Amino acid sequence: MIRSASVILRYIRESILSLFSPKVCILCDSLIFDQSRSSVCSLCYSKIIFIDEISDRKICEKCSLPYDGFCVDCSETKMNFDKLFSLFLYEDFGQKLIQEFKFKGKFFVINDFKDKIRSKLSSVDFDIVVPVPSDTKKFVNRGYNTSYFIAKLISDIFRRKTVNLLLKRQIKPSQLDLTREERIENPKGAFSLKKSALIYKHKSVLLVDDVATTCSTLSECTRVLREHFDCVWCFTLARAPSYL
Ligand SMILES: [Zn+2]
Ligand SMILES: [Zn+2]
Repeated sequence: MIRSASVILRYIRESILSLFSPKVCILCDSLIFDQSRSSVCSLCYSKIIFIDEISDRKICEKCSLPYDGFCVDCSETKMNFDKLFSLFLYEDFGQKLIQEFKFKGKFFVINDFKDKIRSKLSSVDFDIVVPVPSDTKKFVNRGYNTSYFIAKLISDIFRRKTVNLLLKRQIKPSQLDLTREERIENPKGAFSLKKSALIYKHKSVLLVDDVATTCSTLSECTRVLREHFDCVWCFTLARAPSYL
């Protein structure tokens, strides 16, 4: 979802510039020679910790946290979603990359992960893609919702429709300003379902966000979606380690 003409103009300008300018890594400013990427150089890309490439490949069966079996959170807390799929860890280079994408408007960075996303979700059966909404204040300040960009990319890859079915009220403080315990409680009651959701009743949903930390936002959105949808998978670009 893109709010204003200025954001659309910036999107178009960056698209055109990316065609004619030398490609420069958004994380280290060095030139990019790999034709398959446009935002991140090979060295920085190699420092991102992809969850599928973690050496012992042990991740929580529910929420993609590196862990053997079910992690502590999934053992003790009921996560409402069926399963979370995430690409890389939200630390070091993965964290820097998300910050460029989320706070500095580097929309195109996600295109460098197209093949990884295709491979990650190839076995997931979903009919529609639903982005986690931003609250009104963030949306007005930034002019865009990062989850929507990721959802649209997934729509393009798998030819599924992106639909905004959730509403977020502004009353809740940002998750970024809270302790881990507060983050778990904060999203409760923050979301509601649009009336138009009824049109898609019983479809299988892929709920999309940029980062999963405590998974409480995804779990709460899923609780709301469960009113009309039986199957809710989740996808995030990044998964925060349990200590964040
Ligand atoms: Zn770099
Ligand atoms: Zn877990």
